[in-house]
Amino acid sequence: MIFGAIEAGGTKFVCAVSDENLQILERSSIPTTTPEKTMTKVIEFFSKYDVDAIGIGSFGPIDVNPTSATYGYITKTPKVAWQNYPFLAEMKKHFDVPYGWTTDVNAAAYGEIKKGVAFGSNSCIYITVGTGIGAGIVVDNQVIHGFGHPEAGHILVRRHSDDQFEGNCPFHHDCLEGMAAGPAIEKRFEKKAQELGEDHKAWELEAYYLAQALVNYTLTVSPDKIIFGGGVMKQTQLFPLIYQEFDRLMNDYVETPLLEEYIVPCQLGDNAGITGCLLLAIDALEKKLQN
Ligand code: ADP
Ligand code: ZN
Repeated sequence: MIFGAIEAGGTKFVCAVSDENLQILERSSIPTTTPEKTMTKVIEFFSKYDVDAIGIGSFGPIDVNPTSATYGYITKTPKVAWQNYPFLAEMKKHFDVPYGWTTDVNAAAYGEIKKGVAFGSNSCIYITVGTGIGAGIVVDNQVIHGFGHPEAGHILVRRHSDDQFEGNCPFHHDCLEGMAAGPAIEKRFEKKAQELGEDHKAWELEAYYLAQALVNYTLTVSPDKIIFGGGVMKQTQLFPLIYQEFDRLMNDYVETPLLEEYIVPCQLGDNAGITGCLLLAIDALEKKLQN
C-alpha cells in the first residue's frame, strides 16, 4: 500500500508518500506560489506512485463541511491567489482515491496523539506559534470539525496593562494571533523574535497572552495534553513563564494534570503534520473499505 500526504503551508507544501507502516518513501518541499504552479508540482510528485489514499492538512481557513457546496476549498485566506481555491477537487481530478481533509494544525494534533508526545491520550490540542497562531483539536481520537473547523488562534484575549501595541490581525486587531504571533512580537519591539534576548520583556507579555489561551482551551475542551509547536516556542524560557501565568489565571478552579506534563513541546517537530496526514489517509481508506 502507498499513502500520500500533503502538508500545505503558507510558504511551502510538503508532500510525502509512505508505505502502510508510515515509512517515508519520498518527500518533497514545493514553494507556495500560485495554485497553478504549486499544484502542477504536487501532481507531478504523486503521479510517480500508485497511491491508495491521500491525507491533506492545509492552511486555511478551509471548508471541511461535507454538506457544503465548497467542501474541500481553501476559503478566506489572505493569500489572494488561493482564495476560494478548490484544492480537494483539483486533487480528485488527478487521483481518484479516498482523501483525508483537515487543517494543517488538526493534522499536526492527530500526528502528535497517534505517534508523538500525546500518544496514549484520547484528546489533545496542538497550538503553533509562528507566522500565525493556529490550534488543532483532537477529541476521542477524532479531529474536531463542526460547521467548520476550530480557529482557536484568534480567540480574544485581555490586554496587558503595559502593552500599547494595537494588534496585528486584519480581522480582529488584538486577538491572540494579533498580539502574540511572531510578526506581532517583531512589530511591537522592532526586532525579530529570535533576536530578542532570553530575559527580554517580550517573553513575559508572550506568556501572559498564551497562558490566557491555554486557560480558555482547558476550560472549554479539558484535553489530556496541550502541545506547543512553531518557531516562537523555540524560546523554551517561555514554558515556566506560561506555567506561572496559567496557575495565576486558573486560580485553582480546575485541577489540571501537572503543568510540566500537561503543557509540553511537540515531539514530532516538522514531521507532525505529515505524520498526521498519512494517518488520515490510512483512516480514509479504512472508512471506504468499511462502506
Ligand atoms: P511558519 O509559521 O511560517 O510555518 P515558523 O513556525 O518558523 O514558521 O514561524 C515563523 C515566526 O517565528 C517568525 O515570526 C519568526 O520571527 C519566529 N521565530 C522563528 N524562530 C524563532 C526563534 N528561535 N525564537 C523566536 N521566534 C522565532
Ligand atoms: Zn484574529
